[in-house]
Amino acid sequence: MNPLLKISHLHKSFFNEHGETKVIEDLSFDIKQNEVVTLLGPSGCGKSTVLNIISSLESAQGELLVPKNIGYMFQKDNLFSWRTVYKNVLLGLEIKKMKTKENIEYASSLLNKYGLKDFVNHYPDELSGGMRQRASLIRTLVLKPDLLLLDEPFSALDYQTRLSVQEDVKKILLEEKKSALIVTHDISEAIALSSRIFVLTPRPLKLKKEYVLDFPIDSLPSKRREMCEFQAYFMDIFKELHYENT
Ligand code: ADP
Ligand code: MG
Repeated sequence: MNPLLKISHLHKSFFNEHGETKVIEDLSFDIKQNEVVTLLGPSGCGKSTVLNIISSLESAQGELLVPKNIGYMFQKDNLFSWRTVYKNVLLGLEIKKMKTKENIEYASSLLNKYGLKDFVNHYPDELSGGMRQRASLIRTLVLKPDLLLLDEPFSALDYQTRLSVQEDVKKILLEEKKSALIVTHDISEAIALSSRIFVLTPRPLKLKKEYVLDFPIDSLPSKRREMCEFQAYFMDIFKELHYENT
């Protein structure tokens, strides 16, 4: 099967008056259809830059095979406080002039299915952190992206909320049959959500090790956390991130 996304020998530097900052050095990886892949690396290593390159917000050297329709969800939910949940969710459709009857119905069905039916006329400030993240994800999903890019999507949430939103997001990705690339510095989040993890070095970002996780593909984070493999992966990846030589 052809990969959905394929990146080969990606290089990126930023330049300023003090010279060159090398951020990405020879990064290659791919994502297949219906896969959830995580790039796991320390803060400042260049993860967001990789997502910005994939979504054409930044230029770079290397070969990129990227799907046409990409949905990008940031660390902060970026909901507009002056628009209701419903109007926030329809925002992307409005901007892209895709506000058809069919797409509006799809947006409503996602809001109903994922527990926001009674909150469509509320404003973001009236929602819990978890609900806001769900609304933000639905706003991305209504554009029917082939690939979702999720940049540290849970890091602004408190620990308990984070666990329950991870569960929600994984359910939504499975149910809507979506492929996703998540970037995070959180080891347990990576193990809970993905089928493969790429451990990265500090800047300049390089691939250190690939983990192919041996969990059933449709297993939810809560189930994975109960399995003994979870802790074993955690310890192994922790060592890889913090102690092993690059
Ligand atoms: P991460 O998401 O892993 O925390 P980033 O991709 O945001 O890392 O940043 C990686 C490095 O690149 C950082 O040192 C950051 O300061 C630098 N950087 C990011 N964007 C720019 C930019 N537009 N111009 C200059 N340097 C940048
Ligand atoms: Mg970042």
